Amino acid sequence: MQTKLASIQVSSLKGVGPKVAEKLASLSIRTLEDLLFHLPYKYQDRSRIHPIGSLRQGEYAQVFAQIERVDIVFGKRRSLVCKVSDATGMMDIRLFYFSSAQQKQFVRGEYIQCYGQLSFSGQRYAMIHPEITFLHDSNTPRLSEGLKAIYPTTEGLQQRSLTAIMQQALNYLKRAEVTELIPSEWLTKLQFPALAKALLMLHQPPLDLSLNAIENGDHPLIKRLAFEELVAQHIALQKVKKSIQQHQAYAIKKPHSSSEKFLQSLPFKLTNAQQRVIQEIRQDLQHSYPMMRLVQGDVGSGKTLVAAMCMLDVVGAGLQAVIMAPTEILAEQHFKSFTQWFKPWQITTCLLTSKMPAAEKRAALAAIEQGDAQMIIGTHALFQQQVSFNQLALVVIDEQHRFGVEQRKTLLEKGLAANNQQYQPHQLVMTATPIPRTLAQTAFADLDLSVIDERPPGRKPITTIVMDETKRAQLIERVRANCITENRQVYWVCTLIDESEELQCQAAEVTHQQLQQALPELKIGLIHGRLKSDEKQQLMQAFKDHELNLLVATTVIEVGVDVPNASLMIIENPERLGLSQLHQLRGRVGRGEKESHCVLLYKAPLSKNAKQRLTVMRESNDGFVIAEKDLELRGPGEVLGTRQTGVLEYKFADLIRDSEMLPDVYFCADDIMTQHPKIAEALCARWVKQGVQLSRV
Ligand code: ADP
Ligand code: MG
Repeated sequence: MQTKLASIQVSSLKGVGPKVAEKLASLSIRTLEDLLFHLPYKYQDRSRIHPIGSLRQGEYAQVFAQIERVDIVFGKRRSLVCKVSDATGMMDIRLFYFSSAQQKQFVRGEYIQCYGQLSFSGQRYAMIHPEITFLHDSNTPRLSEGLKAIYPTTEGLQQRSLTAIMQQALNYLKRAEVTELIPSEWLTKLQFPALAKALLMLHQPPLDLSLNAIENGDHPLIKRLAFEELVAQHIALQKVKKSIQQHQAYAIKKPHSSSEKFLQSLPFKLTNAQQRVIQEIRQDLQHSYPMMRLVQGDVGSGKTLVAAMCMLDVVGAGLQAVIMAPTEILAEQHFKSFTQWFKPWQITTCLLTSKMPAAEKRAALAAIEQGDAQMIIGTHALFQQQVSFNQLALVVIDEQHRFGVEQRKTLLEKGLAANNQQYQPHQLVMTATPIPRTLAQTAFADLDLSVIDERPPGRKPITTIVMDETKRAQLIERVRANCITENRQVYWVCTLIDESEELQCQAAEVTHQQLQQALPELKIGLIHGRLKSDEKQQLMQAFKDHELNLLVATTVIEVGVDVPNASLMIIENPERLGLSQLHQLRGRVGRGEKESHCVLLYKAPLSKNAKQRLTVMRESNDGFVIAEKDLELRGPGEVLGTRQTGVLEYKFADLIRDSEMLPDVYFCADDIMTQHPKIAEALCARWVKQGVQLSRV
């Protein structure tokens, strides 16, 4: 079903030729409906004149004034300066770009009306390139009613042209011709305005509209749109889920015959949570359609073993399984664990990374292609063209937030190709970033969720201390005692999150030198992103083997690395990192039997928000609690880890701000899917432009 306005192309409007149509298309505007959903990003008040004397720096204002004089000034840059005045004061209008025709329009004694931002330069107030209307001899300003809408636009498409085009589309709105898709009982229940009214108010707001509420998104007009968007997204993801279930997959009917014996060979027992999640996955694997499951588990909750158990079942059925990790260190660590675990059971494991020596790589590629490799462990190298799998039945993605959707898609497509386009691999995505349940249900509505909410027994919680940088000397003494007296190891993490990797490396180098000077008796290693992967690997190995006491590192050690004897971590500039990321880093310690500490070494002064955030870290060791707080204090991008990949994008909705609407969103979406399938389709067409995506984890 197509809504009426979605079937009218913008090219039918006056002033939209092929060139303009192209510009509009670059803003994702193709139809009248697209145009109407292209909302202003700000409003200007053109209903009144501001006296010059009342203006403050930085303020946007409309001024009505008389031209005093006009000069071309040759400073650093040539510019046209026009002095204007009203009864309350004087200011300059300054243009750096102007034609001689424009210059001629500035006539002394004539009137001018302009709108712009007031700046302060060279001891005078000025507006630089304001919007100007020349009124010539007329001494009455031209005022408009209501607020003027300013639209996001693109190079080569002027605000004025876009507004003129929009005006034509608004006539359709005035006749309420935009199709209402949310059932009226829901509009009544939630007290939402009709769509036509909401859109019209946003395009042509009355003067008394609360701009603040619009900007914060808690105005009913915005809520109305956010609600519809969330409903549409939810429906779209449910459809993805259904469409995935149309594919075929290898059904893995039973656990590997050595599964139990393998578990008995481990020095520990599975936690209840691990057992439960393994069962959930096994249920999925029995189906002849692909599994799409997200496993959430705090750092150290033992996700690797859960993945390994399921990969083992796949191998037991004579098929291939692959696990992909975001870094070489992590892939190599997994490879070691897997080899150690599974060698006794005659299972072949195989590592593939891009930095492997050519001969080894060739051998690995051949083993993968011929099916000699049963369990494959790798990095991004697995996407490469030369890789062909052989009856690939299961793809495990570790630390999912480090990968983009496209990359995961490629891997799945490879799997499908390896299975004669007939069987799609089952997919298991793992994340150490706990996502609050309501959020996960929305953001990952196409996935089934499993949570490992229990840590292996015997681990002591990590004690976190928030410390001012001025106590550095004391801290260094503590490091000495930790390494010498107690024979334990220490991580020292240098973070500079917004700066370049280069600067981060430099900071780590400086810290390394300073620490080596202060602690000459310690063996101190330095690991950062500029090192080659084998150098990093060697250093990590040396640290693991206790050849180093102290490891200075950038955030490259963030994921997965396991050194049980390390029991102290210092994190510099912790206020710059997201709470979830801090929690991940901190999870590198506390992996042994001994008590561990994490020192958050900050530089005063801290903002109120930063203080609150560090307090959360001190008070909680629970990844889920931290994730909730991170949400409150920061916003969902960080929590879902989508800032990096830019996947989770809503036009109007905001999962945190709108979280109290979510239960209604699910019910409404369900209602529409079951009662009004045509509307469901129209909603997706309206809101999910890029086509239905593969799960957006
Ligand atoms: P994460 O969930 O952060 O990926 P890992 O899988 O790396 O955690 O596990 C962390 C450590 O805990 C590893 O050394 C692993 O062998 C160990 N481990 C896993 N499961 C258990 C268990 N049930 N009891 C004790 N130790 C376990
Ligand atoms: Mg892990």
